[in-house]
Amino acid sequence: MSAAEIKSGRQDRLQCVEQIAAECVHCRICVQECSFLQEYGTPVELALAWQRGSEGENFPFECSLCGLCFAVCPKKLNPSGMFLEMRRELVASGGGIFRRHRTIRAYEKRGSSSLFSWFYLPPGCRTILFPGCAFPGSRPQTLLRLFRFLMQADARIGIVLDCCTKPSHDLGDTKHFQKMFSELLQIVTEHGVEKVLTVCPNCHRIFSEYGKGLQVESVYETLLTSMKTFPVMDTKMTIHDPCGVRFAEPVRESVRTLARNIGISVEEMPHSGKTSFCCGEGGSAGFLRPDLSRSWTEKRVAEAGASQVLSYCTGCIRFLGKSIRIEHILDLLFDPSGGDIKESNAPFTYLSRYLLRRRLQKTLPAGISGTRRRMLTNTGQEPSITT
Ligand code: SF4
Ligand code: SF4
Repeated sequence: MSAAEIKSGRQDRLQCVEQIAAECVHCRICVQECSFLQEYGTPVELALAWQRGSEGENFPFECSLCGLCFAVCPKKLNPSGMFLEMRRELVASGGGIFRRHRTIRAYEKRGSSSLFSWFYLPPGCRTILFPGCAFPGSRPQTLLRLFRFLMQADARIGIVLDCCTKPSHDLGDTKHFQKMFSELLQIVTEHGVEKVLTVCPNCHRIFSEYGKGLQVESVYETLLTSMKTFPVMDTKMTIHDPCGVRFAEPVRESVRTLARNIGISVEEMPHSGKTSFCCGEGGSAGFLRPDLSRSWTEKRVAEAGASQVLSYCTGCIRFLGKSIRIEHILDLLFDPSGGDIKESNAPFTYLSRYLLRRRLQKTLPAGISGTRRRMLTNTGQEPSITT
């Protein structure tokens, strides 16, 4: 659902619920794919129950918001969007706040804090690299190499270390998401930025849906046109597509082409591309229902079998990496060790983010720079976006 389609007001916010209540034919195709629906019922049953007034229930927070149901529905209905609408409705009416989400909320908050956020916009900057929160923490060296490579092609490229606030978006906390993402947009657009290069598929989705007038491109698409020499490998890998780009075919295809360019023979799992399985991390569902979250991970791992897996989402790699061998395409492209990266956890990821910021501060040429708070004090009016 695009930003334009999600308007304020209860009627508009609940458009998926109404559409599913009216049009779902109870075929159960989506149910066959999903343990959450197998437990709670078909989308039409849930939509009708919701309309009868079961707002007090918390089941929408147990859905991974992965979008697989939307991808397989022959009627083109979007149960995933419906559960997000329900989350928003619960939060707007004062419910839907769980202590078990404290960790993810704190993680998000730190991303925009003065300790970790940092904007660097050189003179004439029109394009920024937005690496998100997880990638800089787990792969600071790869990020530095990637940014240096991009600077060779465009000396005026900037970088923004901050959070896109997708956790709040997915937790239905529309007010907080609107405030934080609007601030981010305001800072970059008021400084003339026209294009965002995303690394994380989740940031890509948020910028694509709410990035108002900004041109959004994944860095994988950028590399496809700008990278002329490649490390050479000779191996077979199967690709895990993250949910964030389930419906963004150019992003998924650019990763496959990059993989082939470095000599990887790409194999597809039965559920790939548009019908990819969630890694288990989606929608913060695991905080309330670790068993449902695990069911996605197990399905993904079972399909991967003994294959070596390639992906392009740090969150998915961290989640699936406990069970299978999985590499990030950017490590294969930019890390001389051939992607032999050991996943690190907090507090080391935070330390990496802080040190990366310090390093960039010390080494980049002059430009406008500062934390989110500092940049905001130098910009104009109150920001606003509509979700
Ligand atoms: S979004 Fe994913 S977890 Fe939620 S109902 Fe659809 S398939 Fe199931
Ligand atoms: S696949 Fe579509 S029509 Fe079939 S049960 Fe699911 S939402 Fe309803």
